[in-house]
Amino acid sequence: MKALEQLARPNIWRLKPYSCARNEYSGRSATTFLDANENPYNAPYNRYPDPLQAELKAAVAKVKGVPAENIFIGNGSDEAIDLAYRCFTRPGADNVVAIAPTYGMYKVCADINDVEYRAVNLDEGFRLNAEKTLSACDENTKLLWLCSPNNPTGNSLDRSEVETILDLFDGIVIIDEAYSDFSKAKTFRHDIAKRPNLIVLNTMSKAWGCAALRLGMAFADKAIVGLFNKVKYPYNINLLTQQLALKALQDPFQVDKWVKTILLERERMADAFGLLPICNKVYPSEANFLLVEMADANAVYDYLIGKGIVVRNRSSVTLCGNCLRITIGSKSENNELLSALRQYGG
Ligand SMILES: *Cc1c(COP(=O)(O)O)cnc(C)c1O
Repeated sequence: MKALEQLARPNIWRLKPYSCARNEYSGRSATTFLDANENPYNAPYNRYPDPLQAELKAAVAKVKGVPAENIFIGNGSDEAIDLAYRCFTRPGADNVVAIAPTYGMYKVCADINDVEYRAVNLDEGFRLNAEKTLSACDENTKLLWLCSPNNPTGNSLDRSEVETILDLFDGIVIIDEAYSDFSKAKTFRHDIAKRPNLIVLNTMSKAWGCAALRLGMAFADKAIVGLFNKVKYPYNINLLTQQLALKALQDPFQVDKWVKTILLERERMADAFGLLPICNKVYPSEANFLLVEMADANAVYDYLIGKGIVVRNRSSVTLCGNCLRITIGSKSENNELLSALRQYGG
């Protein structure tokens, strides 16, 4: 890879970040805080939260098996996605490469940051083709976006193709593992020690059941974590989120139980969709959703809306013609969907 100094935006590399009161004093022994113009009343909400979330990172480090210094915590993964653009890409000059179809935020953040977005279609079966993906890169390609298991296709990307990209691409590779808790595929987050150009994203929004908290994680070399920390808002994770996330992290077995149930339901739903005459194809999934090709996705989508059931219509997405992306819900939600689909047109 290129040196980080060459990849980072020059103004960000040089940036001297805002130093907030809670950054300047981080000792443990003080008892009287008169440094941040806070109100002395209304504890605990009167105090600014820890800007670097030390306690939370220690808990994440334990659960995820990644050293705390290699963890960035963001206001959802979406913050880390945007920070990758703001730290590494020069507006109007640089470009990024991404697989297609994939999660829409990579493109939206590229557009917001005025960065060219080069989408490379996945092969048959939504398989990653390293050679084809790398051939879209040039000397101004700073980021390469991968998502595994991929949204909206549901499959994991082939590990050896991902490794080829990691070996050969000279910029930053981001692997979004938002759905990895639902997959048996080996995570890439333990590879960050030997791969200084790799960022792995995780979130508490899916398997952890905490979408409302807005908490995402990026695992990377500490030099990259340092760049993200310079650019983020000083208090990007509020106190309530830090406290509730810490509580959730203390019970990882709850997540395992949810995941087991959801995976059983996913198999049941895949079989049931396969038997519906209006359904052409159920794609294999390693996530908590199924991509399903319908005979007429728009009609089924509208019909379901009429019944108060909302799925995601992906029929206008590259390679996803006539496809709906259907989240695996609770048993009763899933049954409600199935009974509606069985009555369709009948
Ligand atoms: C849902 C999802 C996320 C989660 O984003 P948050 O901002 O953490 O809620 C990230 N990446 C992908 C691919 C997703 O589908």
